[in-house]
Amino acid sequence: MSEERISILKGVKKILVKIGSGVLTGHNGLDLDIIGHLVDEISEYSKKGFRFVIVSSGAIASGMNRMGFKESLKSLPQKQAAAAVGQGRLMRVYSNAFGRHELVTAQILLTMSDLTDRQRFLNTHNTLLTLMEWGVIPIINENDTVSVDEIKFGDNDNLAAIMANIMEANLLINLTSTEGLYDRDPRKTENPTLIPLVTEITAEIEKAASSEAGTVGMGGMKSKVIAAGKVTASGIPYIIADGKKTGILGDILSGRETGTLFLPMKQHLKSKKYWIAFTLRSRGKICIDRGAENAIVNQGRSLLPSGIVRVEGDFHMGDPVTCINEDGVSIAKGLVNYSSSDIDRIKGLKTSRIEQVLGDKQYDEIIHRDNMAVSR
Ligand code: GLU
Repeated sequence: MSEERISILKGVKKILVKIGSGVLTGHNGLDLDIIGHLVDEISEYSKKGFRFVIVSSGAIASGMNRMGFKESLKSLPQKQAAAAVGQGRLMRVYSNAFGRHELVTAQILLTMSDLTDRQRFLNTHNTLLTLMEWGVIPIINENDTVSVDEIKFGDNDNLAAIMANIMEANLLINLTSTEGLYDRDPRKTENPTLIPLVTEITAEIEKAASSEAGTVGMGGMKSKVIAAGKVTASGIPYIIADGKKTGILGDILSGRETGTLFLPMKQHLKSKKYWIAFTLRSRGKICIDRGAENAIVNQGRSLLPSGIVRVEGDFHMGDPVTCINEDGVSIAKGLVNYSSSDIDRIKGLKTSRIEQVLGDKQYDEIIHRDNMAVSR
């Protein structure tokens, strides 16, 4: 048992478990044995006072099996239709398995647009907390049937990362079909070494994560490591482990060395800033000069009109916008107090001149510090 494992497990109560399609599905659709084992473990720990939220894939894979399709589906409508067939079955399997332990499940289906709207984001947060208070096990999946590219999470690794932040999880366990993160792609090289601990997501770690997914999964190791970056940035430890290994949750929760543990970042983003940084899609760019860059990165200041060199894109007041420096490097993301056309008119000016130029002044700042997540 390593010191890191012991220290992260201290005080863990709320856990998000993400279960990938590669874990849940066997040759004949959903693997009821695997699901049964995982549910037994989650139930055992729930009874000890731990609170769980599950992000589960498997809808498309289960729907494909039910329809007798062997080849992976090509078109989006086909995948959406398969998810519509499979999601109900997936929930029924979970509900029966938890029912054996007298635990109740709840289904939550989400798209990205549900979470980019602050009100719906907060509603999701409140519903989740209420379900957890009731001792119900929420089971979340992407609402595949209505998702289009613009509102897709991309894959459930990303959805799980966002949900861990919303539920204020103390730990995210990403169960997949490999032991964890290896130094080289285990499917392409012999004798790869498992990386037991990641203290920082360096370029080397990113390189170790292959982008290829298994036959039924969506994300592959790359999306798991990108998700790790988001999760650890909000101060939550993250473990990638083998979901098919019997007793895996017990092993992890009793501190045994298994899988890859990513330590949380010491300085992490508060929930609202996390939402801005990782949930919202940027609507444009504001290029800032060195002085403004220094004020934002080193002095914790807001963005004022005087430091703005250029505006790119067409956006409105309240939209999320990326601040880039003069080399084009992204510095921060935040919610703007002025539209792109107004910013274009007041860029480079002192705040005292805003009213004179625009005829009105609601704010001194273009992006207030409280609504800004700094990325460097
Ligand atoms: N939402 C998809 C499903 O349930 C899976 C997405 C993923 O595996 O990341 O089938």
